[in-house]
Amino acid sequence: MWIINTQPSRFGAMEEIEHCNKCGFCLPACPTYQLTSNELHSPRGRIAMVEAAVHGEIEVGLGLEESLTYCLDCRACESACPSGVRYHRVLESGRNLLRQQRKQPTSFAVKQILRLVKRPNRLRRAIRIASLLRPVMHYNAVKPLVPLMGYTEQDVRPLPMKSDPKMSVQFFEGCVMSAQFADVNQAAKNLLVRGQIATVSPIAQGCCGALHLHTGHRDEAKAMARNNIQAFEQDMQSLIVNTAGGCGAMLMEYEELLSDDPLWSDRAKRFSKRVRDWASVFKNVCGKVPLEGQGIRVVVQNSCHLVNVEHAGEDVVALLRAVSNDTFVSYSDQDRCCGSAGVYNIEHPQWGLAILDNKMKVLGKIAYDVIVVNNPGCHLQMRQGIKRQNGNMEAIQHIAIYLEQAAQTAENHAQREEFHAET
Ligand code: SF4
Ligand code: SF4
Repeated sequence: MWIINTQPSRFGAMEEIEHCNKCGFCLPACPTYQLTSNELHSPRGRIAMVEAAVHGEIEVGLGLEESLTYCLDCRACESACPSGVRYHRVLESGRNLLRQQRKQPTSFAVKQILRLVKRPNRLRRAIRIASLLRPVMHYNAVKPLVPLMGYTEQDVRPLPMKSDPKMSVQFFEGCVMSAQFADVNQAAKNLLVRGQIATVSPIAQGCCGALHLHTGHRDEAKAMARNNIQAFEQDMQSLIVNTAGGCGAMLMEYEELLSDDPLWSDRAKRFSKRVRDWASVFKNVCGKVPLEGQGIRVVVQNSCHLVNVEHAGEDVVALLRAVSNDTFVSYSDQDRCCGSAGVYNIEHPQWGLAILDNKMKVLGKIAYDVIVVNNPGCHLQMRQGIKRQNGNMEAIQHIAIYLEQAAQTAENHAQREEFHAET
């Protein structure tokens, strides 16, 4: 019989397994079940597999590995579960068990990503060089960076604060966000400035550690969490905002990650309580910021973790509805995973693409001009989806870029009206 860690303070997997009454309400929410119609690739099936492995009824072998490996960790099942089962704890314990028993090495591509995200400047340089050399290099040499290529940042200039700020927040820059989407972070800061919120970016901050945690490098993820907690302790009153659903969810769960560390658990708890998605903070002041669109139709591809962990999906929708002149079109699958899921699309490209294609099929039935996203992985994955349909890849925009453009349009409009009124 295999023993997994059953301390509720650490993983709490047994507690979650016992709460699952096998009702199956989570099945329709699960993208891998939707893809396969196979119980082994459903949340209920995965919980049952881990439970059977814990009780020694099945081997910690290929069957368990296949079931757990193909889970996206999107947590849609947690939002769908009426019993409040925290599935991710079961998944993490099951994957931990697999690592102990089967000792699967991390792939070369994933190792390179995990190394580079610790140094955003180096990651930025690597993406630029790989993009230039890609036409003449062997695919394997640039493979880890391929999902990060192809996005060209816009020139977004910092806005000065026109009057005294009403409040200040600390800004979490993120590794991929600062390496590849610095324009998005700047647009988000500009919108906060428009709402009279000042931003401060602590210098010692680093990558959130989500990719490390989800690929089983738990101790490294903990070290990264401790670094960030310390970096953001200079001002304990400010909220900590970020523009990436995956990072935000990870920051919110430092409390859980470090709950068994007596020296850090309280500090982690205080840190996590201050974390908000940028959209939730901006929503509270967006009434002060006129937003005017271009007369287009907009849909959203929400990040799974933003919806299922940060519970900020409604704030995103409220912001999109606040843009005058544009039409926000909601659809039933807007919160369903796009198949990016951290390094899933690198590790399991066929499944990642099949899930993406399902999403694009749904979107294909809607007339839209722009797809708004709120996470870098989703952003690049959705670009890939559009590319596979020979569509316009610039139709994918981060919500901060979309809203900052709407704020500029409204500002220009107001200036023109003022000018006409004076002449
Ligand atoms: S995880 Fe929740 S929804 Fe899914 S089978 Fe268990 S109790 Fe039912
Ligand atoms: S985390 Fe996502 S892919 Fe994994 S079982 Fe839950 S719904 Fe399915």
